[in-house]
Amino acid sequence: MTDPILSIENLQTTFHTDKETIRAVDGVSFSVGPKETLGIVGESGSGKSVTARSILGLVDGPGRVHPDSSIRYHDPAFVQRIARRHPDAVRYLEDDRDDGDAYVFLEDASKTGQDLEVASGWVDLVRAPESVIEAARGSEIAMVFQDALSSLNPVFTVGNQLKELLRIHRGVTGGEATTVAAELLESVGIPDPRRRLKEFPHQFSGGMRQRAVIAMALACDPTVLLCDEPTTALDVTIQAQIIELLERLQRERDLSIVFITHDMGVIAQIADSVAVMYAGEIVERAPVDVLFESPAHPYTSGLLESIPGLAHGRDRLPTIEGSVPTPNEPPVQCRYAPRCPKAFEQCRRVHPQSVPVDVSPEQGLDSHFGDAEGVSGGSDHDDHRVSCLLYPESLPEADRLELHRARSDDRAVSAIETATGGESDE
Ligand code: SF4
Repeated sequence: MTDPILSIENLQTTFHTDKETIRAVDGVSFSVGPKETLGIVGESGSGKSVTARSILGLVDGPGRVHPDSSIRYHDPAFVQRIARRHPDAVRYLEDDRDDGDAYVFLEDASKTGQDLEVASGWVDLVRAPESVIEAARGSEIAMVFQDALSSLNPVFTVGNQLKELLRIHRGVTGGEATTVAAELLESVGIPDPRRRLKEFPHQFSGGMRQRAVIAMALACDPTVLLCDEPTTALDVTIQAQIIELLERLQRERDLSIVFITHDMGVIAQIADSVAVMYAGEIVERAPVDVLFESPAHPYTSGLLESIPGLAHGRDRLPTIEGSVPTPNEPPVQCRYAPRCPKAFEQCRRVHPQSVPVDVSPEQGLDSHFGDAEGVSGGSDHDDHRVSCLLYPESLPEADRLELHRARSDDRAVSAIETATGGESDE
């Protein structure tokens, strides 16, 4: 796998109320490579949108991203810029010293006098101050929201809104801003862009509004685009046009895309790899062709079976009974168990961990006890991972359960250490 441009590790976003703590995103890990499209799919309430908002620091109170989470942005030019601006926040990975307040981590960098050149490293957006997150938001990582109408301000023309963005983020004003704004509208396929700049959002059709919102997201030339259900409110022909547009823009601008949807059909069209979310967790991760050909998790199978047109020879479309539970307790069981047709007794006692779908006999069980979260990298087996007690498939049931239990215990110990700021009793 190529080095990621964005990597998320153990993302935990919680919402605290008087009565409970809702664990909307609970230990999510994934990465997206340069020019790659990662699809995140799942039902409403699975935590997809909160994941995207967490990346950009847009979680409103009473929500918060747990400090033990890690959101790493790897673009070398950005890392270099932040490292030069905030030398006190820099830590070289080869150093053994404690992280302290560091949020810029340098893997491969050279320093000549005061001049720092960064080849690889990352900025951790969870540890970084708001000023650094603001520098990344829009200019490096931009977001296309689901509802184009509420993303646009109804009392300003589309041109005003685009030019305001260009002024704030790029310092472009006057006639030059009008020219750049018109070019942006043209690049997203809006005809007669100079006239359209003078129109208000309500004068645009639904598809045009979504194109305008994409133009706004591209205004600062980001490297990563987070698309939160950008086609959900559109009819299928316009939906196909927006997907084509995103694919073209990705080729032209070398974009990495995280595409969030509940629609497996859309995922099949646009994604290179897929993460399936359920109740705040990623339950399966695979390249898109592998996921559609051989889904491993019973939830993924349920989602695929409920696609209209794929239920060959059946009178009724299969559905997944019940709804996504609100994850308001640390998981001690499989959260899918109440709805899972393959559930067995242990599913209500052991929390499944992310494991390869299968392991070769040579690898055996031992090689996986030391494997950390391991969502990316490693062997071929790591391309397809699943959180279900039925896997790794080639292991006997007792070994599988032992593996999942051991990993659950490791995570519990690490959570205690984080909470206490030191050693656990284990
Ligand atoms: S762990 Fe059990 S309940 Fe959960 S998905 Fe697997 S078989 Fe179903």
